[in-house]
Amino acid sequence: MLCYIGGSESEGHFSVINEAYTMFSHTNPLHQDVFQSVVRFEGEVVAMTAALLGSKEKACGGEICGNMTSGGTESILLAVKSSRDYMKTKKGITKPEMIIPESAHSAYDKAAQYFNIKLWRVPVNKEYQADVKAIRRFINKNTILIVGSAPGFPHGIIDPIEELGELALSFGVCLHVDLCLGGFVLPFARKLGYPIPPFDFSVEGVTSISVDVHKYGLAPKGTSVVLYRNHTIRKNQFVAVTEWSGGLYVSPTIAGSRPGGLIAGAWAAMMAVGQEGYLENTRKIMEVSKSLQRGIKDIPELFIIGRPDMTIVAFGSNDLDIFEINDQMSSRGWHLNALQRPNSIHICVTLQHVPVVEDFLRDLRESVQTVKKNPGPISGGLAPIYGAAGRMPDRGMVQDLLVNFMDSSC
Ligand SMILES: *Cc1c(COP(=O)(O)O)cnc(C)c1O
Repeated sequence: MLCYIGGSESEGHFSVINEAYTMFSHTNPLHQDVFQSVVRFEGEVVAMTAALLGSKEKACGGEICGNMTSGGTESILLAVKSSRDYMKTKKGITKPEMIIPESAHSAYDKAAQYFNIKLWRVPVNKEYQADVKAIRRFINKNTILIVGSAPGFPHGIIDPIEELGELALSFGVCLHVDLCLGGFVLPFARKLGYPIPPFDFSVEGVTSISVDVHKYGLAPKGTSVVLYRNHTIRKNQFVAVTEWSGGLYVSPTIAGSRPGGLIAGAWAAMMAVGQEGYLENTRKIMEVSKSLQRGIKDIPELFIIGRPDMTIVAFGSNDLDIFEINDQMSSRGWHLNALQRPNSIHICVTLQHVPVVEDFLRDLRESVQTVKKNPGPISGGLAPIYGAAGRMPDRGMVQDLLVNFMDSSC
């Protein structure tokens, strides 16, 4: 569970969103002519987001353009689909392949499966960043797309977007930057003086960007934005049907009917927080992230994975089973994500953590001590499952497990 806002300030914020949602819950931007106001909200959410990410002019008038989607996964699916069809037109590629760093989100696997694209997942370098040289070796005449994250979900580290941009330009392939987590933090962290390397459309070669309004944008769940450098690429996202007996049908995203209430909710959230609010939030969570990193470094049994650029801090242990430590943290009420390669766990710092950094570090120190005093598996937790992460279970088995779990809960 991950909530990006907490405490007393969340109540007012949620009620603004809920009011906007209620007013527009019956609307559907599929019918543009009827629900003009939600069409306008969507345009403004896209324009405001684009303005943060390297669009010089307002996106409506300028070249950078895009749509709202249901989440980071849909934004990524659409960017991949658009890149595939754009590259088919541009280079005649009919057996598309894409290359992603090991740290890139599973949504690219989903896209590869849905859209019949061959996927190469390439190990990261010693700093846990996309290994540009390694990616270069996988580029061939069928490559449609390479990917960088800013930052990646597992370790919160920004890939070298400028170098990836040069690579994409030199081979004439698309470059998607995954700003699902970073989009509403990095522009503000940079304003606050943190050393943030270029990550957006200011980098030549970046053709599309995904950014989740429903994460650090503090919008309701089910809202994200996909952006393109220009209309020529974006055009490939739209499905237009002219032969249907239902008449002319044009749909920009995966869903047909779309929830206008969520679009209004996202618009209201962005207007309520505003540039000042995002800046202030970023100041708080970046400070928490730094204190957390200092506190974790002071625990000799733990090490931090790479150099976190933002508000995700991943850590592991050379001496102890990190997943046993995770179970200890869970029993103290903390829900951290389990990672592999290497085995580790991460915390994604949000406004909820601002008042509880010291509690977190105290519980972490205690958890480490408990595991140290009780070597071998401590029963009751998930450690035995995660512990096998080096030898991941078979995919079919995991599919069956999830089906059984979901069926047994109804
Ligand atoms: C969350 C996230 C996604 C996927 O987003 P959903 O909203 O869960 O579909 C993709 N990439 C990164 C880096 C993310 O953090």
